[in-house]
Parts: sequence; structure tokens; C-alpha cells
Amino acid sequence: MSTTDFSTLSLTPALLSTLQELNYQQMTPIQQQSLPAILAGQDVIAQAQTGSGKTAVFALGMLSALKVKRFRIQGLVLCPTRELAEQVANELRTLGRSIHNIKVLTLCGGVPSRHQTLSLEHGAHFIVGTPGRVLDHLQQQRLDLSELSMLVLDEADRMLEMGFQDDVATIAAAMPAQRQTLLFSATYPAKIEQLAASLMRDPIRVSVAANPAQNQIEQQFFSLAGSSRELAVMLLLQQFQPASCVVFCNTKRVTQQLADALQQQGFSAMALHGDLEQKDRDQTLLQFANKSARILVATDVAARGLDISELDLVINAELAHDTDTHTHRIGRTGRAGLKGQAFTLIDGSDDYKLSLLQDDISDTIQLQSLPAKALLDKTPVQADMVTIQIQGGKKQKLRPGDIVGALTRDQQVAFEDVGKIQLHDLWAYVAVKRSAAKKALQILNHDKMKGRSFRAWQL
Ligand code: AMP
Repeated sequence: MSTTDFSTLSLTPALLSTLQELNYQQMTPIQQQSLPAILAGQDVIAQAQTGSGKTAVFALGMLSALKVKRFRIQGLVLCPTRELAEQVANELRTLGRSIHNIKVLTLCGGVPSRHQTLSLEHGAHFIVGTPGRVLDHLQQQRLDLSELSMLVLDEADRMLEMGFQDDVATIAAAMPAQRQTLLFSATYPAKIEQLAASLMRDPIRVSVAANPAQNQIEQQFFSLAGSSRELAVMLLLQQFQPASCVVFCNTKRVTQQLADALQQQGFSAMALHGDLEQKDRDQTLLQFANKSARILVATDVAARGLDISELDLVINAELAHDTDTHTHRIGRTGRAGLKGQAFTLIDGSDDYKLSLLQDDISDTIQLQSLPAKALLDKTPVQADMVTIQIQGGKKQKLRPGDIVGALTRDQQVAFEDVGKIQLHDLWAYVAVKRSAAKKALQILNHDKMKGRSFRAWQL
């Protein structure tokens, strides 16, 4: 047995078999370094980035400590964004699927709190949320943390950047001092040290020398040399034809302009930034994740926590203001052992930022010229899938199986042509292959599901 086997840890047989089913064969370096201490009950500060397997680290810690029959809030994970909180909750549910009746609840801003309040009344074992909304529920006395035994701060550096420091401190003050606290952060500024000192007891520190995935990221830098950014991004997209690509910009305005320009030229692109309504942001993320859009043009804030596996390219349309942000951006490609590529556009005003970045990169940064303009003569590749929204969801007792069943009845739509399905209370979304979209729409608008008719349309 190798020391990287999960079976060397004191995990329950049920958790071990879930890990096996998920094909988590070996521990990642951060898991290897921190899980033994966490399972022994110690406080841990882990310097780890998205893609390192950090979520599984604290999820396994929480699940191991859980007393499921005791229906009290036992663990709280605080995250900087709603998107990250949703992913963390999903990973907790996935890893905890062998534990009967486990209840994980997300409490995030951007959605009405009414449902959350109702869910809180029904109770939960674990809460995953953003500091603002968690504090809100706490102050309204809807949230009782008096029996909590584990607090996790995920992407703590981002939470501090977003000004959540006081909220986190107030929330922590409402829980027992006798608890285990885990802190995860990609970077390690002095403020993290202060936060740790105020919340943790004799923490051990682990850091993974470099994100192993990072070695797998090939970085290239392109000189704009008078070309517009929009043109440069289009040329890079045409040359490399990524299936899933995030293009980062520094401001909301540039983000929207670039997305508009790409769309006008026929690229399968969508914008993601904070000026969009939450509903539009959710639909954009959903469409990008289910492969109905190839390109996501995003600001750093909006893209935080975005976890799309198989992202094959990151383009920095503008060089990030600091090296940490740059590292975060490019860390989104090349996940979990997949090879990733990151391209960065540079113009004359970037010299200073570029020299700072060079200090951090072992290879010498070489500026390349952009691909040939003739590439724009080709039509951009469309996304493989389209998303259909159905006017019905959990409230109408719809389940994913009903949707797949309706679509594939008599092989009208092939099973392989049905992609991701997402159910909400009043809506459902289903991705289908572009070639099957017309047929699927016809079926969903005319055939009954659960004995009733629904309306459906393409997003
Ligand atoms: P994270 O750093 O938590 O965002 O995790 C990155 C991805 O790696 C997630 O999709 C996890 O499901 C996956 N993952 C975590 N641990 C392992 C492991 N030991 N083996 C394989 N995949 C893993």
C-alpha cells in the first residue's frame, strides 16, 4: 500500500468506498499533507489553490467528524462567493452520499432568504455560505451555531479582499471556542496570519510547494503591437479553437464590450460580470458548464470559484493588476492533471506589471506576435450543445429521469445527445446536442411529463 492511498487514513469503510467509486485513487499532495492532522482533530492552515483537491480535504474532515443522528449544525464552511459555496456543497453531498439523511444547506446572498429560513427551520448538519448572508441569519436568530465543532474558511484571502473580515469574526464569536478550525488560502498575506491568530489554536501549516497543476500550464505572452484587444482575442481563439475558454478582463465595461464584439463576429461567447443580474449570471454559468457556450468573458470577481473541469484555455485579454490575480486566473486551466494553456496579451503600458510577473516565473517571458489575420476568414466554431429551459421543476415533482425519459422515448432523441440537467424549484434546464435541439423542443412542448404539459424554450 502506498502512502498516498486513502486507505492509510482513518476513514470509515463507507467513505473509502465512495472515494473509490469517484475514482479518487491517490491523495493529492495537499490531501496527503493535511488529512492525517485534520482527522486527528488539529487546526490546519493550508496554502492551496483551486484544483489542488482542497475541497475534498475539508469535506472528508467534516464528514469524518459528523454525528449524523445528532441533527444539529456541526460544520460551517465560509466561502467568498455563491458559486464557490454551491460547488463546495455539491462536493460535500457527493463525498457524503453513503451517509443516510445527511443534510447540507447553502446560505448565500443574491437569492431571497425566505427559502433559506424555511430550510433552517427543518435543520441541517452542515452549512456552506457566504459571510454576509450567514451573519444575516445569525443576527435574525435563525441560525444556531452553539453546537458547531468545525469551522472552515475557504479561499480566505479572497474573503479578506472582499472585506468580509469583520463578518467572519462576528460569526466565529457565535460558535464554541472548543472547535476545529481549518483555513484554506491560495496566497498568504500578513492579514491571513492575523485572522488565523484570532480564530485558530496551534494550527499546523501545510503548503504545496507549487500547485502541481501549474506545471501543466503552458503560458504564452503575445504583444498587441498596435492591434486591438478584440482582434487579438479573436485571432487566438481562431488559431487554438478551444472547447472551453475563459477570457479575463480587468473591468466590467471591457468585459461586456469584448463579449459583444465576439458575439457579433459569430463566436460562441457570453459575458459574466457583476453588473448582470444574478439570474443572468446563473444562466450564463450554467450554459458555459453544460457546453452551450465555448467562451466566457469574465471579470475576476465574477469568475471566482468557477469550477469548470476541462477548461482548455485561459486568455488574459488584459494583464491582471497583480501577480496573485494572474496566478489565480491561469490556475483555472490545467486542473486535476489535465494540461492547460494560458495566453496573455501585453501592450506597452504593461511593462511594470510584466516585470513583477517575471520575478515569479522561472522561464524568461518572451513576447510573441499574434497569429495571422487571415484566420478571421474562417467561421468560428459553434458550441456543441444548446440549453433548453422548461417551465417546471421540483415543485412540479419533475425529476431528471422524467426529462431524459420524455426525450429518449422511442429513441426520438438519442441518449448520448442529452447533456447536463439542472433542476430548480420552478425551472429545469437541459442541455441537448445542437442537432437534436429542434426535436427536443418539440417533444418538451407537446408531450406530457408527470401527467402534465410544460412550456419549453431555447436559451
Ligand atoms: P479542488 O481543488 O477542491 O477544486 O478540486 C479539484 C478537482 O479535483 C475536483 O473536481 C475534485 O473532485 C478532484 N479531486 C479532488 N481530490 C482528488 C483525488 N484524490 N483524486 C482525483 N480527483 C480529485
